[in-house]
Amino acid sequence: MPSVTIVGSCNIDLIFRLERLPQLGESLPALGFEIAAGGKGLNQAVAAARLGAITAMVGAVGQDVFGEMLVKVLAQEGIDHTCVQKDHKEGTGVACPLLDANGSNAIVVATRANGHLSPKAVTAAEAVIARSDIVMLQQEAPADANLAAAKAASRHQTAVMLNAAPARPVTPEMLRLTQVLVLNEVEAAQLSGEDASTREGVLTAAQRLHEQGPAIVVITLGSEGVFFLHQGAAKWAPAFNVKVVDTTGAGDAFCGGLAVALARGKPLPEAVNFANACGALACTVLGAAPSMPTENDVATFLARRRQKRGA
Ligand code: ADP
Repeated sequence: MPSVTIVGSCNIDLIFRLERLPQLGESLPALGFEIAAGGKGLNQAVAAARLGAITAMVGAVGQDVFGEMLVKVLAQEGIDHTCVQKDHKEGTGVACPLLDANGSNAIVVATRANGHLSPKAVTAAEAVIARSDIVMLQQEAPADANLAAAKAASRHQTAVMLNAAPARPVTPEMLRLTQVLVLNEVEAAQLSGEDASTREGVLTAAQRLHEQGPAIVVITLGSEGVFFLHQGAAKWAPAFNVKVVDTTGAGDAFCGGLAVALARGKPLPEAVNFANACGALACTVLGAAPSMPTENDVATFLARRRQKRGA
């Protein structure tokens, strides 16, 4: 079985569904409200576990009711949470997505315990990282925790996948330690300094980033699909056409899918196709972690699409 460790954030999402986003000073009744597990790290862990990987989470929550809820979710998903530390001083991370009737959103995040994930806590998880095929990192955890994870992975020939989201500078050392870099076009533009608003721009951005270390660079383009670069060869894959309910978590589903497929030893184009299906399926369900598809969902989806193409 593929084995994946995620080092990253665990949040509680307080989701408000609204007709429109409120204006400054305005008090607006919500159409609906939900509480769900979230945070890029936890979402990607849920994705990996549902897709059939032996999955471990390294992260931090507070000693509060939200932290207990998140640990329960991890346990229910069959994710090893022994390396999720309980912060004595800070509460659990909270995000507050405001979704309007068109599916657009604005999100407020209080990082809290996630911001205190220490390199020491990550190094304590070295045995788990050593047993994994791939370690997945995002940028909601402190940069020094990510670097500690990448260094631990490189000591044990565990592949490092960095999802450079949300956008923030990445050090040359971190890029050198990364084998698979996944980012959207906004993050690609910020990290490479290139204008990634055209196809040529995306290609140039990917090449610039590839030159700095990662053998594989994947740039996700939402409903436009995905661009990927491997050993100098550039390819585009269009997005699957689905009925979109909420795109929150699409990038995390994509990352989870890519990590699991690569850990299974799939060739890159096949792994990207699998990840593309995971991202599309996540768009058909409300919420982040709840929208992560299972291995069975993806297999059925891909089989139906193949049938349609053959018909
Ligand atoms: P992020 O949320 O990180 O910006 P993207 O919006 O680029 O990520 O989406 C990640 C992936 O999810 C895309 O590459 C694609 O595979 C899938 N995806 C996102 N939006 C759609 C959509 N509207 N239709 C189908 N697939 C989508």
